[in-house]
Amino acid sequence: MIARLKDWILFRGVRRRISFLFLIAAFLPVITLTIMLYGMVAEISHEQDEQKKVETSRAYSIKVYERILFAEAAIQRLSSNPEATWKARDLLFNTVALVAPNGRMLQHTGEPLPASVNEAISLARKSASYPHKAAVHVLKKMDAHAAPAIAISMNRPIPGHPDAILFAVFNPMYLWGDPEAESQEFNTCVYGVDKTQLFCVYSEGSQKDVEQAVAKGAGIWELFLKGRFHGSNWVVATQHRYAAQPTQWQRFFSIYVKVALLSVFLVGFLSLFQIRRTMGPLRKLIDGTRRIAHGDYAPVEIPANNEFRELATAINDMSGRISEQIRTLQEHEERFRHQARFDSLTSLTNRRALFAMLDVLGEDQYVSDLTGVLLLDIDRFKFFNNTLGHRAGDFLLRQIARRLEHLVDDNDTVARLSGDEFVIVLRDCKDREEIRQIVERIIMGMGEPFNVEGNDYALTCSIGVAVFPEDANNPEMIVEAADMAMYESKKKGRNNFQFFIPTMRDSKLNRLRLDTDVRHALERNEFFLEYQPKVNASTGRIVGAEALIRWAYPKLGVVSPDNFIPLIEDIGLMVPIGAWVLETACAQNMAWHQAGFTDMRVAVNISAYQLAHHSLVPTVERVLQETGLPARCLELELTESAIMENFGQGIETIAKLRSLGVHLSLDDFGTGYSSLYYLKHFPVHFVKIDRAFISDLTTKDEDAVIVRSIISLAHDLQLQVVAEGVETIMQRDLLLASGCDEFQGFLFARPVVGDEVKRLLERQKRDA
Ligand code: C2E
Ligand code: MG
Ligand code: MG
Repeated sequence: MIARLKDWILFRGVRRRISFLFLIAAFLPVITLTIMLYGMVAEISHEQDEQKKVETSRAYSIKVYERILFAEAAIQRLSSNPEATWKARDLLFNTVALVAPNGRMLQHTGEPLPASVNEAISLARKSASYPHKAAVHVLKKMDAHAAPAIAISMNRPIPGHPDAILFAVFNPMYLWGDPEAESQEFNTCVYGVDKTQLFCVYSEGSQKDVEQAVAKGAGIWELFLKGRFHGSNWVVATQHRYAAQPTQWQRFFSIYVKVALLSVFLVGFLSLFQIRRTMGPLRKLIDGTRRIAHGDYAPVEIPANNEFRELATAINDMSGRISEQIRTLQEHEERFRHQARFDSLTSLTNRRALFAMLDVLGEDQYVSDLTGVLLLDIDRFKFFNNTLGHRAGDFLLRQIARRLEHLVDDNDTVARLSGDEFVIVLRDCKDREEIRQIVERIIMGMGEPFNVEGNDYALTCSIGVAVFPEDANNPEMIVEAADMAMYESKKKGRNNFQFFIPTMRDSKLNRLRLDTDVRHALERNEFFLEYQPKVNASTGRIVGAEALIRWAYPKLGVVSPDNFIPLIEDIGLMVPIGAWVLETACAQNMAWHQAGFTDMRVAVNISAYQLAHHSLVPTVERVLQETGLPARCLELELTESAIMENFGQGIETIAKLRSLGVHLSLDDFGTGYSSLYYLKHFPVHFVKIDRAFISDLTTKDEDAVIVRSIISLAHDLQLQVVAEGVETIMQRDLLLASGCDEFQGFLFARPVVGDEVKRLLERQKRDA
């Protein structure tokens, strides 16, 4: 409260300067005017006062003079009729006397003459030289304090007393008049020749002699008696009875001062009021901008429609925009924060947050608990992505994310590591068996079809499982372990899972990430083909050869296709690499043809990827045309599962290939669906019985039964049968007895380079 009052009175800054200027502007002219006016008023008042006093003295002089004149007339009349003298005395004179030149009283009426009359008589005598002239005398009394008597003498012969002088002492009441009739304000005194006081209207406060009166500021008028009356002039002095009363001017001035003070006060008050009114909105604006600086964007309200409101509107606009921008920034920040922790596509925990979480897990882990870290890779996701398009691929990934979240407990975490790789962290597991059950549940759950754009797609996944803290106890190593295990399950034909075992660490392939290197293998000419001959079962002669891809990987030496085919399928390079195999194999076969082995057939493996790709048929056509190889000398090996994955389109493609005139064989028969029923729907020429059956042919009776059944069924369907992986003579003999048409296996030949095949053919020709 006091602070507010202080603030109100002791303005600060701009307010203080403005109010100070206002007050200066109001005060300065008023004070200057007042000082000037005061000087003028004082001067005028003084002059007026002086005039008034002199005027009063003059008026009084005239009155006394007129009375003396009247008394002169009276005494003249007396002189001519002395008898009347004695009667007339009462009004004008106190004493009338006729005095002989020697001073003897001849006649007398009224009060006795004062002793000083003798002086007067001598004076009167002197005035005898002025006959018929009256003289005025001042007759001092014996008592020095008593007022002197004033007498008038007539120096004119009186009948019967020619030398006598007529003396009349004035009645003071007559001569000086009634004091009541005089101004109450002034005291008028008359001073005689010796400057002594003759009379004062008011005796109190009067000055003894004229000099004193003049010193006190009396207004002086000389009563000129010398001319007409023998005697000296008198001086009439008027001075204030009391201290000087304020004059009109002074009264005006005192009112003026009050009005001036009032107006200054009014100006001050109005200016302060106006400053307050001006400063009020300014204060609001200052407070408003301070609030904005502190993040409060409530608008500044200025009720009056003036410049301040315009400023407030501008500030409000500005703060509106700032708050909008800050909100946007906060949203961005929120999004960034979300992006920092969550994967933008699937909203799952992202890689960085996963590793942070695993880090914390390492610190918090109870010794008795196990944590399962699963690395899940969608099998052949690239294939889906490429055939359905990226939008559908993204949609599929989101569905997979939701499915995975659904398949695990709430306190487990599903994270997206990259592309189609997910990490699932299973917490608080009792033992490995519990983890195994959950993983099986996930594989089962993932087997349910996904619906994308109205079509159902069956996906499989490969999972690697590492157990924390047994397999590793830091985030990078545990994920790496799960990755190695996942890679193993891919190698094992996908759609399964593997627990990490330490020997996986020793596997060179797992230790090195082939992904990056395999991408460049084609352009670096690191791939090459080997050819494994196929022989006619009854003649034992080479009738064809299967092209098998090899990767001459500088870091590891020659890598077998089982180890990198899944990789190149996953990274989407199967189609171009497959085309290169086709071109190379056909060109090689043409070389054999040109060497004279014109019946040679070359077999090329076609993956599910290639079969699903629209480019397969045109590529085969182009390669045949470019190499000039007759279509019948090319054989394409397709796996049962590749056809089944996309049954309708697969059958269609096979039919087109067949119409080109190429041979087709069903590779690895018996490992996939092994449905003899479907066999009739596959328009192929050969069935290749999988190595797995051949190896156990001589040891397991049921395998021999299966092989015999396959051969007889295939023959019923007009298909030829090829047995792969024939390693022993016993196997060969058994197969031969069952009616198998062709053999392939180490017993006859290992996969070798093209020139070696040519040498084998040449030797065979020589031997024939
Ligand atoms: P596949 O088509 O079944 O090829 C036969 C595999 O069996 C070859 O292994 C071959 O070396 C092996 N093999 C042949 N005779 C015997 C034998 O008597 N005993 C044993 N133990 N193995 C024998 P490889 O070359 O490692 O090829 C593995 C698989 O890789 C092939 O199986 C094929 O599916 C795939 N593959 C190879 N080259 C290509 C290719 O160019 N394109 C595609 N898509 N797949 C290929
Ligand atoms: Mg094959
Ligand atoms: Mg095979």
